[in-house]
Amino acid sequence: MTGPRDLLGRRLRDVRVSVTDRCNFRCPYCMPREVFGEAHRFLPKSEILSFEEIARVVAVMCDLGVRKVRLTGGEPLLRRELRQLVRRLAGIAALEDLAMTTNGLLLAASAQALKDAGLHRVTVSLDALDDPLFRRLSGTDRPVDHVLEGIGAACCAGLPVKINCVIQRGVNEDQILPLAEWCREEGHTLRFIEYMDVGNHNRWHTASVVPAAEIRARLEDVYPLEAVDAAVRGEVARRYRYPDGAGEVGFVTSISEPFCRDCHRARLTADGKLVTCLFAENGADVRAFLRSGGSDDELRNFVAKVWSRRDDRYSELRAATQPRRKIEMSYVGG
Ligand code: SF4
Repeated sequence: MTGPRDLLGRRLRDVRVSVTDRCNFRCPYCMPREVFGEAHRFLPKSEILSFEEIARVVAVMCDLGVRKVRLTGGEPLLRRELRQLVRRLAGIAALEDLAMTTNGLLLAASAQALKDAGLHRVTVSLDALDDPLFRRLSGTDRPVDHVLEGIGAACCAGLPVKINCVIQRGVNEDQILPLAEWCREEGHTLRFIEYMDVGNHNRWHTASVVPAAEIRARLEDVYPLEAVDAAVRGEVARRYRYPDGAGEVGFVTSISEPFCRDCHRARLTADGKLVTCLFAENGADVRAFLRSGGSDDELRNFVAKVWSRRDDRYSELRAATQPRRKIEMSYVGG
């Protein structure tokens, strides 16, 4: 089936599914403790989509052209029995890529079960190898070694691992080389992501952004890099390889070179909002639709209509956009 196009001609190809709004980090980047502390009200269970509901929405989206699903949160490994959802999604024949983004803290205990259930790969967010800095950036007292153990367990289970690292000016620039060296040694693909103005609490400013070109130049001072063609159109990261065979590194240039024109991604929040941009103010209520007894055909039309009305290109328009209340990243899943 040919899926819908949005107002800029973009097709729906992948979806990020948030399975919980809870997280075991309190990173200043997306869940600062002063906002997400004891008084914060997380979603009650009754408001969160069941695994059956999520699998139904994903199957309908696959009818509309989705081939890639990424499980996110909050922290997805805080959702109980997540492997049961993985098993359901892995059974959708049209789905070609089933990935998960995690902070890695609970990965050691669950990697093998997730692999056995049908997960294809994991991405671990890791902004520092230096332990005191890691603890500061994650807002926890858990050591970075716990994340590294999780990454090791994923590798042992046969799950390919990518590392995502957000670099902030004056905060963790000194981690660029150590992370690159560690990923080269361990055989992980590293992706540097420009610091973005996600949510409403990270005090983002252009001065805190280290442009991808600068990060690349710092790497190239030590390791030559060769550009790699995108594997598929709309690939988010600009890819480079180390000519000595030590793998790849990528750069996500959301600020310096926005790629909205190639954005084929939707997001499904834990409570069933269909969101068409990371920087959206709200989403369409899929949960209400599901729980009012609509058929799969009607659900397909509902999703197709939401997508066909989409004209998001926040990153391209950032400089000209008035400040507004955005959905929190811990809610929309990055
Ligand atoms: S700003 Fe929105 S439309 Fe642009 S790439 Fe990001 S998610 Fe896609």
